[in-house]
Amino acid sequence: AAAPKVAVVGAGVIGLSTALCITETWPSCSVTVLSDQFSPNTTSDVAAGMLIPHTYPGTPIHVQKQWFKETFSYLFAISNSAEASEAGIHLISGWQVFKNTPKEELPFWSDVVLGFRPMSEAELQKFPHHLFGQAFTTLKCDCPPYLLWLEKRLKAAGTQMYTRKVSDLWDLHSEYNIIVNCAGLGAHHLVRDEKLFPVRGQVLKVHAPWVKHFIRDGDGLTYIYPGIHRVTLGGTREKDSWSLSPDPGTTKDIFDRCCSLEPSLQEAQDIKVKVGLRPSRWCVRLEREVLSQGRVQLPVVHNYGHGAGGFSVHRGTAKEAARLVGECIAALQGSSSRAKL
Ligand code: FAD
Repeated sequence: AAAPKVAVVGAGVIGLSTALCITETWPSCSVTVLSDQFSPNTTSDVAAGMLIPHTYPGTPIHVQKQWFKETFSYLFAISNSAEASEAGIHLISGWQVFKNTPKEELPFWSDVVLGFRPMSEAELQKFPHHLFGQAFTTLKCDCPPYLLWLEKRLKAAGTQMYTRKVSDLWDLHSEYNIIVNCAGLGAHHLVRDEKLFPVRGQVLKVHAPWVKHFIRDGDGLTYIYPGIHRVTLGGTREKDSWSLSPDPGTTKDIFDRCCSLEPSLQEAQDIKVKVGLRPSRWCVRLEREVLSQGRVQLPVVHNYGHGAGGFSVHRGTAKEAARLVGECIAALQGSSSRAKL
């Protein structure tokens, strides 16, 4: 049978990593990425890219932990290679601090990150408003470098990439055998998923090269995440807000909250404001679906709805999506051999 033609819709961290995983797992497939935006114009470009999982209430914890573990080990290997700086992947140590002792002292991911431990008294002295804290080392993906590195890997594997807005997945049925939907928040319109909603996040990207440790308030709202070139200061979580324009009042509020955690940030320079809409859902939609019109069928694999934690789990969900593409290939081959009989 001819090599199956696979179209991946979306070129954020989920689309690009899924396309790469498909080319690695099924090298005989011809893979094309179709997207209305590429880096630097995706939500993924706004993200801090820290590997600290967000919890999806509708996905079993052991599954989320597996996704995180796979992502962590994949990026850990890159961070230990000569590719690390081009790929924008680096290890980073720091603190998560709490005003009250958290309900669960050990998050599910505590044995995946490195060296997770309670903070010492000496460390806590840096945070006079906080009672308790956790110290650990994790990984960070700098964007856009990581997305550009994924694109480069895809081009080397022969993947085509086209700018194209898809208004209906069915429009692709005459050109492709299998569709992989990684449209992020775009899936709200593309497949009319009412369960998908935006959670608006505003962040500042500043020049403060003396800040080397991450600091995150346990409420998840205020954070300081140093990257290779710039420090990301956050943030906000505004459910159902579709606005992409920065709000000046919010900028000041974020800056003040971050300065109260790390007073030296008062000296930060070159403050840039970014807004992104997290593609949020009760659980990631990671499943197979067969669209049909009459006797014509089009297999689809959905992989979207990663909300606040897409970077933290992207490789794990990409692997599962590639496995589901394998099921679609097997089903196509089964039906084409039946058709010949
Ligand atoms: P996107 O990056 O939005 O990509 C979707 C792609 O689909 C785009 O290329 C778009 O053009 C394309 N598309 C959409 N509709 C169509 C269509 N109809 N036709 C063609 N193409 C289409 N996560 C972490 O793990 N760690 C963090 O530290 C972190 N920080 C964050 C900070 C902020 C402020 C925000 C907003 C998010 C943060 N996230 C973080 C979450 C993370 O950014 C997302 O989970 C992730 O980027 C989702 O990736 P995606 O590829 O699904 O979506």
